[in-house]
Amino acid sequence: MGDFSIVARAGSAVAADQFGQNLMNGINDGEVTMLERNVDVLIIGGGVGGLTLAQWLTGLGRTWRIVEREAALGGPLASSQYILKWIPGQAAMSGRDYLAAMAAQIDTEHCSLATQLDMVQVGTDLSQGNFVCSLSNGELIHAKKLVFACGATPFSPFPESERVIVGAGLQKIAHIAAGQRVAVLGGGDNAADHALILAEMGVAVTMLVRGKLRASAALLQQLQQQPTIVLKTDYQEFALAATAEGVVVQGEHYDYAAVYFGYQVSPQLKAFPTLKTAAGALLDGVFAIGDMTQPAFPNILLTQGQAAVIAKQIDFELSHSAA
Ligand SMILES: Cc1cc2nc3c(=O)[nH]c(=O)nc-3n(C[C@H](O)[C@H](O)[C@H](O)COP(=O)(O)OP(=O)(O)OC[C@H]3O[C@@H](n4cnc5c(N)ncnc54)[C@H](O)[C@@H]3O)c2cc1C
Repeated sequence: MGDFSIVARAGSAVAADQFGQNLMNGINDGEVTMLERNVDVLIIGGGVGGLTLAQWLTGLGRTWRIVEREAALGGPLASSQYILKWIPGQAAMSGRDYLAAMAAQIDTEHCSLATQLDMVQVGTDLSQGNFVCSLSNGELIHAKKLVFACGATPFSPFPESERVIVGAGLQKIAHIAAGQRVAVLGGGDNAADHALILAEMGVAVTMLVRGKLRASAALLQQLQQQPTIVLKTDYQEFALAATAEGVVVQGEHYDYAAVYFGYQVSPQLKAFPTLKTAAGALLDGVFAIGDMTQPAFPNILLTQGQAAVIAKQIDFELSHSAA
């Protein structure tokens, strides 16, 4: 997937870029020039929501730039080997393959995306009605609309380490060997799901639950049929200490602790309080989609639906503001 950031050298006062209408101006700044770029939409976050939005915007003839903080696009699904069960028509696809298929459709010939990049500052250009955004590479983006699609991150009161695994993902537990002892902390679907997978790998699993189990009926049934998992419920809090060799949870020694305490919404919008009204609503022209909208049941279909609706809304608003 191409990244069309062009670093213009000093002396090239205006560099026409590859995107036709999308002018990129080089501003002399000593050795390397800073770049300025105009887009219809700046999308912050290149996961399911950001990529879907980009595809819809392309279809509607709008320009966009995605900035993705990590080295790879796709968020958690990019490395998920789970077979997707909730996407009609995609019953045999893993999250990773679904993401790869989506990413392959993204039009980077006319619009652009960049990884390992973050938005660090935002202001408004009142004369143009644009948002003016500084990126972590010094680039300046003038965008008519801003869409935040930064997702959510797994929550844990215990820092992630070699011995403390935080959040769902088969790749995070793949290295655990049969016979090793793992304390699975949590009582929801992710905890139950991973306890079952670990037990199937021959790992000695103890599941420690705050209060009662909350996993779905199908997973509870599978847990009951898996006699090797030791289940301990009704904890209030957990005492956990990690060393290089292992962890101690509630006074018991384990090789690993795996924590599934749910997800917390990306705090990215909090970093830019000027994008909200005094009442806490997003300013006109600023949108959030996907897990950042805190859905009760985060999922791909909802995120993609929101992205499609916001793309259409943006297109409508831009068409009318130009008229
Ligand atoms: C392990 C796992 C498995 C799942 N499996 C399924 C499933 O099988 N079916 C299903 O329907 N749903 C599944 N979900 C839920 C689904 O993945 C989410 O609802 C969906 O990914 C939300 O999309 P999003 O675009 O809001 O966020 P994400 O897909 O999380 O994408 C957010 C992106 O924003 C980037 N980002 C974060 N902060 C910044 C920043 N400051 N600047 C720039 N970029 C930033 C992140 O790196 C990431 O790439 C799963 C979730 C997880 C964690």
